[in-house]
Amino acid sequence: MIEIIDIHCHLTFKEYDADREQVIEEAKKILKGVVTSGVEPEDAKRALELMEMHEGFVFVTLGLHPIHVAGKTDQEIEEYEEFISENKRKIVGIGEIGLDYHWIRDPLKIKRTKEVFVEFLGLAKELDLPVVLHLRGTGSEAIEEGLKIVLDEDVRKAVFHCFTGKPQLAEQICEEEYYISLPASIVRSKSMKKVAKRIPISLLLTETDAPYLSPDESEERNVPQHVKEVYEEIARQRQIGVPVAEEEIERNFERLFEVEL
Ligand SMILES: [Zn+2]
Repeated sequence: MIEIIDIHCHLTFKEYDADREQVIEEAKKILKGVVTSGVEPEDAKRALELMEMHEGFVFVTLGLHPIHVAGKTDQEIEEYEEFISENKRKIVGIGEIGLDYHWIRDPLKIKRTKEVFVEFLGLAKELDLPVVLHLRGTGSEAIEEGLKIVLDEDVRKAVFHCFTGKPQLAEQICEEEYYISLPASIVRSKSMKKVAKRIPISLLLTETDAPYLSPDESEERNVPQHVKEVYEEIARQRQIGVPVAEEEIERNFERLFEVEL
């Protein structure tokens, strides 16, 4: 019996339009649960629909991905926050939210992204939900800044999704009791392997970010099943059995998102 979890993917994305149900049925064969993240208002509605169709298997976090911030007015953001509040009981977290210096370079847009990021951290605290952080770009700058912001805002429950920073930075994040989630691209990243080995297992989570970041670069889209490779790599790095990793990560998942599988 395989007991694995994908804490971050995007099952609502167009890459699955042709065969979404089939992908989810396949995922159910080897996974215990998946968290699909809504990245903007329309996507959020689709994520909730999918959750309702697959209750107890598909879980949802809702947020405003940094790349979707620039196109939104204050009023649209406010309405979206209201929508999230109204659906508080249907979701397990706020995210993904954060900073993206890979796609966002303009100083004014960066300023706006940060303001909206802080706004959503406030919403998460108000609703008492954990946050899923997207912090990407130019070395570890986004991660370091994001860490500073969540500390300044006194956010207690957070996961750094798709962590690409140095092992030392991962350790620093874990000292604050925040979680780190590693994607299937770990199979080709020395630095991620070190992170998997060094941080406390009680703060480690597993994801695919599917349809992105396939463990096999020649493959066009990723699927949640590939999270299996993250477990195998964690077990290898820590010299533990895969079932031990499964048990620990399930416990972490249940603790952070306050759900029972
Ligand atoms: Zn994502």
